[in-house]
Amino acid sequence: MKRLVILGSGESGVGTALLAVQKGWTVFVSDKASITQKHKTELINAGIEFEDNKHSEDKILLADEIMKSPGIPDDIPLILKAKGKGIPVISEIEFAGRYMDCKSICITGSNGKTTTTLLIYDLLKNAGINVELAGNVGTSLARQLAEGRKPDWFVIELSSFQLDGMFDFRADVAVLLNITPDHLDRYGFKMQNYIESKFRIAQNQTEEDVFIYCEDDENIVNELVHHIYKSNLIPFTQKDILKSGAYVTNDEVIINYNQDTMSILSQELSLQGKHNLYNSMAAGIVASVLKIKKKFIRESLTSFKGVEHRLEKVCSVRGIEFINDSKATNVNSTWYALECMDKPVVWIAGGVDKGNDYEDLLPLARKKVKALICLGTDNSKLINSFGKEVQVIKEARSMKEAVELAYQQGKKGDVVLLSPACASFDLFSSYIDRGNQFKDTVRDL
Ligand code: ADP
Repeated sequence: MKRLVILGSGESGVGTALLAVQKGWTVFVSDKASITQKHKTELINAGIEFEDNKHSEDKILLADEIMKSPGIPDDIPLILKAKGKGIPVISEIEFAGRYMDCKSICITGSNGKTTTTLLIYDLLKNAGINVELAGNVGTSLARQLAEGRKPDWFVIELSSFQLDGMFDFRADVAVLLNITPDHLDRYGFKMQNYIESKFRIAQNQTEEDVFIYCEDDENIVNELVHHIYKSNLIPFTQKDILKSGAYVTNDEVIINYNQDTMSILSQELSLQGKHNLYNSMAAGIVASVLKIKKKFIRESLTSFKGVEHRLEKVCSVRGIEFINDSKATNVNSTWYALECMDKPVVWIAGGVDKGNDYEDLLPLARKKVKALICLGTDNSKLINSFGKEVQVIKEARSMKEAVELAYQQGKKGDVVLLSPACASFDLFSSYIDRGNQFKDTVRDL
């Protein structure tokens, strides 16, 4: 029997363990932190050996294959040793993909993955297609296969860390939204490494497959010339008019595929903002490729509810609108948030800096931001970057303080925008905790 070692006992690790035993592997799960009681019970019930609060190297290096959680970097000594011994190190989707006998739509990008994945899922479901959601959102692909789910399509959100452990997996439909600097610490601080990781989304594709990508993204377009794809390449753009693909002209989104065209007024789309035009176009192309009726495409793109913590309207207090964009953990996503604000902005930003360059935000801050509330344990970089651009800058060390300061600065007709451009771990447990604290505090005003 082949031995699979699983490093990390999160949803993808435990899902893989359950699938692997079913498929006849001997499985050992190892987690350097503690394993939750719920997951321990699942492993025990399935007769799977595990350890927590340590990695026993001798047991791990006996593996025929290692499945590593996306959170574990590739360059830790244990992984380097395993690779040195010739043990393949793969990710959950690579493993589960071997046992998947339906088609897949895979979505990646630096920003917009979750939004676009959920939008595509919503679209397919509305059209009556037998579809399930997997990847970074919800239940892992491996667990769903272990539970015997048999959809016709899986819509799978893929991070670059998942993609790094994917070698033979092939996406029937691949979507690459954008590539902007993020997580560079995991890529030797080399943008090219990160770009190559994102391009793995289209690896192994054949003539029957489709690769949908953003033509306005320089990193994508420059990298594309180095690849020869057999698959059907379909671009989307806001800068051009295309014979095949999706584009925007005269405030209309046009989706043009296989000589069949449909159009939707951009103001009718339920997800607003320039960035969401891209997301809607990508989803629209996927739907056209799947030959979904225009009526359903229009219905979904104009009625999709949006995703929590992404430009989420909370409420208005005294005529001041509050928007929660806590998921904006990098500069690019905050750029799009500021870009689509059409009222004076009191902007709450800050947190753990990921090597941010705020240069791109300066023109928008100059034009739109009336006050900046810096929310973090170390706000010096924000203050240095925006000191000359924004009239009022205040510091806050808690969400309560930040919301109260923002409320004092705002007046009727303004918007208070939480779009941090930073990770949340200095003051919060996650971006979800940060967004929830924002919403709770706003509702208490
Ligand atoms: P991801 O799953 O890639 O992190 P999300 O859909 O969760 O992406 O959105 C993360 C942040 O990026 C949110 O602040 C959102 O408003 C913003 N965003 C969404 N789509 C895009 C896009 N296409 N380009 C840039 N920013 C985007």
